[in-house]
Amino acid sequence: MSKPPAPGSRPERRSGPPAGGFKRPSHRPEKPAPDRTTPDLAPDGLPQVSIVRRGVERWQGGHPWIYRADLNGDPALEGGEVVRVVDNRGWFLGKAFYSKQSKISLRWLSYDDVPVDTDFFRQRLAQANAMRQRALPGETTYRLVHGEADLLPGLVVDRYGDCLSVQFLTPGTEQRKQLIVALLVELFKPRAIVNRSDVGVRALEGLPQEKGVLYGELSGPVPYDEGLVRVRADLMEGQKTGAFLDQRENHVMAAQYAFGEALDCFSYVGGFALQLATRAQKVTAVEISEQAAGQLRANAAANKLSNVDVVVANAFDYLRDTLDEGHRFDTIVLDPPSFAKNKDAIPGALRGYKELNLRAIQLLRPGGFLITASCTYHIDEQGFEDMLVSAATDAKRRVQIIEKRGAGKDHPVLLNLRETRYLKCFVLRVL
Ligand code: SAH
Repeated sequence: MSKPPAPGSRPERRSGPPAGGFKRPSHRPEKPAPDRTTPDLAPDGLPQVSIVRRGVERWQGGHPWIYRADLNGDPALEGGEVVRVVDNRGWFLGKAFYSKQSKISLRWLSYDDVPVDTDFFRQRLAQANAMRQRALPGETTYRLVHGEADLLPGLVVDRYGDCLSVQFLTPGTEQRKQLIVALLVELFKPRAIVNRSDVGVRALEGLPQEKGVLYGELSGPVPYDEGLVRVRADLMEGQKTGAFLDQRENHVMAAQYAFGEALDCFSYVGGFALQLATRAQKVTAVEISEQAAGQLRANAAANKLSNVDVVVANAFDYLRDTLDEGHRFDTIVLDPPSFAKNKDAIPGALRGYKELNLRAIQLLRPGGFLITASCTYHIDEQGFEDMLVSAATDAKRRVQIIEKRGAGKDHPVLLNLRETRYLKCFVLRVL
């Protein structure tokens, strides 16, 4: 029988998921790891963090996080460190970013005992880009890094042509900002890199909101193409990193279904409305933000789309009033913001979705299309579909499902992290 490996060691393998899945080590180590709060330093100088059985089960299941409750004690660490993670007995499980303040304490970086150094991050970034090149050949605007789903937890990088817009969401990536920027410059030679770390989730990690140009120069909005339409993204002031790249493929798909009189609710700067306008006779775009509505008008004018009417209004009110007035449409898009930030808000969110979708179904002429989306993490595809069933039943209309879609291919879904499947986009036909 072969000698059991020393605690914390595991045969070296190249990075990537474990070849045989997430198996527990079969040998006993020589001695169990002490359960203490001061982290041991492993031979590679990394702090060592030990997790309890439930955490190990989560690791086995391939989930990319470990929660605070599943740590053995509270490590005396500052947060942002790369740590070696071991089980109760000292067996190596992987390397992870440690967060001190968040309920999510560990985010896996590697399940192999490889150095997490410059080359590690260079390879991860290059691999992420290689997937986009294959999935979206010729594209120059896409999400280049989608956090955990690209095995780069806490990092989002969006590419808009020769400009990059980046979000550092955890101490692990925040503290490696310079390294990440240097690698992005080396690999992608951008004209500018913008930091859009002005997002609420950073507060959970004790990080302040930050925004600015990290590299190069940025003057004005950045143009990019979506199908036949040219859009401009304001990388500094726009929502998210400038645009809703997750809906890019759905925007272009929407043009295919558009006909007659079209209505786009929650339009932002016109991702859907402009596409509808390339096919429909007339488009009414409803958006509550004056600023976004102004940019939508400018985008329509720049694309010589004179059939777009932009209305600054609350979409809920607009739908109700239009229905009361007896007006009807042939194509409707609903793409509201997230309605539930936590699980407690789900029932209210579902009522909101139902109200919108019920009214949209009632507003459609027979044969009309409803393209309806939800980006609420806490409502899954089945929950969304059940809500649509209820709306169609109340509207007393028969509805066909034509397509069930999600975010674009540049926003990969991690099978073991349901939250990464946040975007639902259904194409329905109302009979
Ligand atoms: N459809 C857009 C993205 C929409 S994001 C695209 O694909 O690019 C949601 C938008 O809804 C935001 O621009 C926000 O300002 C707007 N919004 C939020 N609440 C609203 C409301 N009650 N009525 C109308 N618009 C609203």
